[in-house]
Amino acid sequence: MKSNLFLASAMIIALFAVSCDDNESNNTVSDTISLTEEEKVGLLFMLEEEKLARDTYIYMNNLWSMNQFDNIKNSEQTHMNSIKTILDQNNIDYTILPEGQFDNENLQNLYNQFVIDGQISNSYALQIGATIEDLDIVDLEDYINESTNQVLISTYQSLQCGSRNHLRSFVSAINNNESIYIPQFLTIEEYENILNGSHEQCN
Ligand code: ZN
Ligand code: ZN
Repeated sequence: MKSNLFLASAMIIALFAVSCDDNESNNTVSDTISLTEEEKVGLLFMLEEEKLARDTYIYMNNLWSMNQFDNIKNSEQTHMNSIKTILDQNNIDYTILPEGQFDNENLQNLYNQFVIDGQISNSYALQIGATIEDLDIVDLEDYINESTNQVLISTYQSLQCGSRNHLRSFVSAINNNESIYIPQFLTIEEYENILNGSHEQCN
């Protein structure tokens, strides 16, 4: 941790050194920390979508005690933390509602439906896991494409990397149950590319 901090400060010093004698790089540096209104709205939405994943997996784990939900719920907490870090750095206010409660109506409706469907069987629960990751990857992709902010883009890319691992994990469990998952948000081609890849090390 300490050496990371040291590296980070060394990088900041290096950035300032460059920006002192070059106005253009100065602009580039300030661009990477200022967020547009759309980017702020996107961050608040993604914070709640990561919370949807975390809360749903906590619920499913309590119901079915499966390794996938137990492990991945913790990973979703780290995803929420990554977004909280950017919100805090930019002094953007946010509220994290209690478990199972969402400010965004669509996310609330999804959660309510997941809770109903997830009680049917553990196979349904795994389908819900895959559905959430499928949606998450596509929503992150949209926000990545709409942004030019490198800090935001690399954070979202790291979350996407995690989501690809989660998707592979849920689908492999679905396949072990002799069932299949049909992508609902990703194209078949994007989905197959992810499934053909192996576990990734995400930053
Ligand atoms: Zn996530
Ligand atoms: Zn995930």
